[in-house]
Amino acid sequence: MHNTTLEVLRCPYCGGRLELVTSLYHRREGDEIEDGILGCHCCIFPIVSGIPVLHLQPAATTARDHVQAGRPELARRTMFGLEDERHAEAFEAIAASETATYREIVDALGPTFEGGYFLYRFSDPTYLVADAVVRAIAGTVLARGGRAVDICGGSGHLTRSLLGLSPAPPVLADLYFAKVWLARRFTAPGCEPVCCDGNSPMPFARGAFRFAMCTDAFMYIWTKRQFVGEMMRLIDGDGEAGAVLIGHTHNERAWCPSHGQPLSPAGYRDLFETLEPRIFAEAGLFTDVVNGGPLDLSRRDTDDTLDRDTALSIVATRRTDVFKPHPLDLPSSSGELRLNPLYETKPDGDQVRLRLRFPSEDYEEEYGACRQYLPEEVVVNRASLAALESGRLPTELLDLARRLVIVDLPKNYY
Ligand SMILES: [Zn+2]
Repeated sequence: MHNTTLEVLRCPYCGGRLELVTSLYHRREGDEIEDGILGCHCCIFPIVSGIPVLHLQPAATTARDHVQAGRPELARRTMFGLEDERHAEAFEAIAASETATYREIVDALGPTFEGGYFLYRFSDPTYLVADAVVRAIAGTVLARGGRAVDICGGSGHLTRSLLGLSPAPPVLADLYFAKVWLARRFTAPGCEPVCCDGNSPMPFARGAFRFAMCTDAFMYIWTKRQFVGEMMRLIDGDGEAGAVLIGHTHNERAWCPSHGQPLSPAGYRDLFETLEPRIFAEAGLFTDVVNGGPLDLSRRDTDDTLDRDTALSIVATRRTDVFKPHPLDLPSSSGELRLNPLYETKPDGDQVRLRLRFPSEDYEEEYGACRQYLPEEVVVNRASLAALESGRLPTELLDLARRLVIVDLPKNYY
């Protein structure tokens, strides 16, 4: 954690500033705090492997005791949920390897860590819409400065979309330590990870951000009213007006296989007391993205359209320049262009046959809309694929990159 991050952190319970307790065990490297104890008016919290843990769940208090006793490695094991000694050692050996991939580390965390479909995340329809919406809004409100926060951002797949747009490093907040740790190492290098509880007040100062977002998680939050109030507080700064985005939240009016406690569009609207939010049905945004743009945020979906969609995106801001059509630019690659892992390869002479294969029927049911841009089968030259593997995108494959048969993945992703 960078020293300057202390400027935006506040205790979620007393709202007080947090300071490193230098009389207790701590380790610093330059401007970074590696391990230590943060204190406010009411309590103390640990920093574990550079990640402030700002909640009081059992693992956090155990980790705090370990840090206080000068045992940072045990604090880290606790936060990763590695209780068995042999499992912990095996995980640490893999985590210590510079060439370890995201996939290997997820596997090493074991079956209790929900890795889910992360491998396919960068081409699923939900991600595509969210990435476009995040880039459009963050690109607008952060154009002249400010900072972004991704709340309940998991392992940072959308924090990644903020990297080139948030002038100050984006903050990624999530309850799961392992996820934000993975994000900092792989998915969104350069972000500032914070571990906190989305059902508690947020551990940040008023006005610390100009853009606050939460994507694909809000339906799992029980304290929705508090959560929205907190997001509005985070962007309540002195400078230019900011924006709040709640992306991909499920709709109580339309059935969907995932769990959660979704609200109706009217219910979501009522959460915003000080600002009238605009609610978008995801289907319309998805069509915009599949057609190559523009992403039209000037649209006003009817109540009927909203009621019928399984997922909604909610935008609250005083800035009128957000609600317009936004061109969709192919973002420049910040990682590695690789073959989409949804494709199975079959060599055929000088050519290679690529076939779309879903990992499971469940995946196909939830994300089958990807067939609208992912072709069933393509044939490419073996030489072009070899060029891609050596880090160059041959002209022949440009169109496949647009169609996400070739995806921009974090370095060492799989
Ligand atoms: Zn406090």
